[in-house]
Amino acid sequence: MERFRDHARTYSARAAAYGVDLDRLAAGQAPYVMIITCSDARLVPALITGSRPGDLFELRTHGGTVPRFDPEDPSGEAATIEFAIEGLRIADIIICGHSHCEAVGSAGTAGDITAAGHWHVVQQLDVLSDYPCVAPRLVDGTLRLHAWFHEIGTGHAPAPARRQRLPPALRTRPSRAEPRARRGRHRRAERVSSVVPAARRGAPTMVG
Ligand SMILES: [Zn+2]
Repeated sequence: MERFRDHARTYSARAAAYGVDLDRLAAGQAPYVMIITCSDARLVPALITGSRPGDLFELRTHGGTVPRFDPEDPSGEAATIEFAIEGLRIADIIICGHSHCEAVGSAGTAGDITAAGHWHVVQQLDVLSDYPCVAPRLVDGTLRLHAWFHEIGTGHAPAPARRQRLPPALRTRPSRAEPRARRGRHRRAERVSSVVPAARRGAPTMVG
């Protein structure tokens, strides 16, 4: 703990050495990408992306799980997403899953845990794309969703598997009773999940 405390106390000097303008940051934030990812300590978005202070707006939860939008029971995650989109006018959201995720493992998933992790990312995209603040921006093209997956053991970043390549046990299909509009949202989530992360302002990409 002392090591962290001492490091924090010298932050301003290191920021100056790395050209971080703390006065500019104090004037307000204007991040251009939001990342939704797991709280896992092994996953450090700034290290992975090469982002600097002010670049990346983060939402971290256990498993990077996005709760379904419920106007009767608004969640902190929903408030954070709405602020990013409506307050900060974020135009790109990355959902980044990772290997060896306890949240995915504890879900009792049978079969290939890596495929389950990829599938988890696609599920979060699907949920996110249903948010009232997200759906219209996807339709008018002012918001892009990106699916990333980080391999803890190698640092590699393969694109999440497409739904059709997942093992049959992990696939879900819309039921016959499911409304046509819902099936359409499934297709939309699949489409946006295959997008390679945008490289606005030269931000590095993980998926190549
Ligand atoms: Zn995790």
